[in-house]
Amino acid sequence: MAYKNFTIETDADGIALVTWDMPGKSMNVFDMEVMDELEAVLNQTVADDAIKGVVVTSGKEGSFSGGADLTMLEGLLRQFHAESSRDPEAAAKELLAQSRRMSLLYRALETCGKPWVAAINGVCMGGATELALACHARVVSDADAVKIALPEVKVGLFPGAGGTQRVMRMTDAQAGLQFLLQGRTLDGTKAKAMGLVDEIAPKKKLIEAAKKLLKAGVDPKKPWDKKGFKSPSGKVYSPQGFQFWPAANAIYRRETFDNYPGARGILQSVYEGLQLPMDLALQVESRYFASVLKSPEAAAMIRSLFVSMQELNKGARRPADQRPNKIKTVGVLGAGFMGAGIAYVTAKAGIDVILLDRDMAAAEKGKAHSDDLMTKAVKRGKATAEDKDRLLARITPTTDYTDLEPCDLIIEAVFEDRDIKKTVTEATEAIIKPRAVYASNTSTLPISSLAEASKRPKNFIGIHFFSPVDKMMLVEVIMGKKTGDKALAMALDYIRAIKKTPIVVNDSRGFYTSRVVMTYIREGLMMLGDGVPAAMIENLGRMAGMPVGPLSLADEVALDLAWKIVAATRKDMGDKYVAGPLDNILEEMVIKRERFGRKNAKGFYDYPQGGKKHLWPGIPEVAGKPKAADAFDVEELKQRLLVMQALETARCFEEKVLTDVREADVGSILGFGFAPFTGGTLSYIDAMGTEAFVELCKKFTKKWGPRFKPNRLLREMAKNGETFYGRFAPAAQEEEKQVA
Ligand code: NAD
Repeated sequence: MAYKNFTIETDADGIALVTWDMPGKSMNVFDMEVMDELEAVLNQTVADDAIKGVVVTSGKEGSFSGGADLTMLEGLLRQFHAESSRDPEAAAKELLAQSRRMSLLYRALETCGKPWVAAINGVCMGGATELALACHARVVSDADAVKIALPEVKVGLFPGAGGTQRVMRMTDAQAGLQFLLQGRTLDGTKAKAMGLVDEIAPKKKLIEAAKKLLKAGVDPKKPWDKKGFKSPSGKVYSPQGFQFWPAANAIYRRETFDNYPGARGILQSVYEGLQLPMDLALQVESRYFASVLKSPEAAAMIRSLFVSMQELNKGARRPADQRPNKIKTVGVLGAGFMGAGIAYVTAKAGIDVILLDRDMAAAEKGKAHSDDLMTKAVKRGKATAEDKDRLLARITPTTDYTDLEPCDLIIEAVFEDRDIKKTVTEATEAIIKPRAVYASNTSTLPISSLAEASKRPKNFIGIHFFSPVDKMMLVEVIMGKKTGDKALAMALDYIRAIKKTPIVVNDSRGFYTSRVVMTYIREGLMMLGDGVPAAMIENLGRMAGMPVGPLSLADEVALDLAWKIVAATRKDMGDKYVAGPLDNILEEMVIKRERFGRKNAKGFYDYPQGGKKHLWPGIPEVAGKPKAADAFDVEELKQRLLVMQALETARCFEEKVLTDVREADVGSILGFGFAPFTGGTLSYIDAMGTEAFVELCKKFTKKWGPRFKPNRLLREMAKNGETFYGRFAPAAQEEEKQVA
């Protein structure tokens, strides 16, 4: 039988080599057609008496499969929502049946009576890892490309095709749960240490090793299908289990505050499933999976963290008429904290870097940062000594502007000082090619005003990195008033080359991300002024879904910087500025007590040397005596922290600082960790409903002050019953552009 996505070759020993190789795709993914074909392949190999065993592998270089095509799940959901208004029960049953398909197919493979061995040659994600786990043995290649994970929890789901059940029956409970709940990626060695993989073979001998294993005899009956099976960590109801499960539940709550139905589904499936035989356990897992799949959190996370992120990564905002740029050399000006990080990620992408600073010692120090990072990577086995040498050879430290001559792109990261930036811009433009693009990594100075120092403002743009540069995935591109499409295309091509996610925003004080996250910090300080205990404020932030509390963040950003921003706003607004508790608290902290935050180890927290940070006991001296915690409505305060950020985002949208709903959402999660389970700042408003959101803003305005006043766009949308994704759907935008 011929298949579109699979080939079968049976050798003289009766071993069928099933190779999965989807035509026209760089990576294999599971869609409905692949599942149909895999089922037919399974039936064929079972029916054919000449076949004694099967090796399943991939025809793609460096990857086995990326897992299930999430757009397929999105399709199931759309169908469910369309049908559930008519017949909710039938719609739910259909969703369960459809979303169980993969689980049943894998179970059929597992119990088919013939041994299957997965030969994993590279990236193996989600549904593909679950396929491998359903096989009777797994061999992985020793190539660096091997990466094994069940990352579903990161998009609000969980491994629902047997993954939760098989992992927990193959490895010890703690390691298994961590693997599932964190969606962590394992290399071959780690996967083998956990018992999830049987053998590691040289890359070129992978298939040979898998066949050899089969010939030596692989039991086609799984241990859990035999009498007397015990999972590695014993029974749930056992003295061991009594110690483990309550603690696991407590850790889950501490880490997630029960905000993620996907994570909750893992714990439920595992806890209940481990007490049941496999078929029933899989049924339990499927039921939880279907209910998680239809949760608003999963829909929001799939949309923002998978669909939109992919679209932005592929250049959704790139001007289509611009030719792709080949970026060979990038000049980084300023080899300090940010410049050193930018040089590293650039060189890592195979681009030559000219790293310029005021003196050679500073430039060399910037390069040493790459040396440190690569030395650590070599130690951890993530890179080889040759990788390190190659990367370091790409970075040329200098103090001489003429070295910048070959650069296609310049990224300036010198001190945040307008005059210094002006001098550096002029000196650089005197050397670089006329078509080279000049970008500033400023975090606060408007790009249009910095561009005044440039002779070619069309080629002047903002490329705003986040710290630490090597870890943070977002880059915010800022269009100055005169920035042209050519500069935008260059910035986006560069960000794509370094494998980060871009958002494109228009100039504004603090651009998008800094502007919005400052409102979170401000709200935390306002709460202090309202008498909310400091520890409660920090907990509220985390409970609302933010990665850290607002006071911690204030300390990280630096209180003297926050004080400077307040002073600048006050100067800008003149008589209209209304001073509040925020001004007093910051003045007390910064001016009177020189508590600047983490940078001088004194802020809202104390940072004892070598010890753990803790809240500064003197906070009541600057903020007044706190009220009792139960004087406040916890839910309302949690909302207050998120509503303020969502409202500021809506203002950015009205002012056209933001022009794309996807960028607002993706930028909020990747840039400042806005509660990921909401899908981002605008998804948060849409999920609540614009009308309800506006009502809440009005209530908060009365109770907490005019900063909560809903903007005109929101009021108008509430009146018309519109949502952001309805009114500003990216596709509709395209049409609008075409009409215009
Ligand atoms: P930094 O003080 O660590 O580094 C600045 C570097 O610029 C120093 O090495 C300094 O010697 C060099 N420099 C100063 N004047 C120079 C000149 N005339 N010519 C050449 N080099 C010169 O500062 P940083 O934290 O890396 O910040 C750099 C820029 O990045 C600033 O504009 C800042 O606003 C922005 N930024 C910082 C962060 C952050 O978290 N620190 C985040 C985003 C953006």
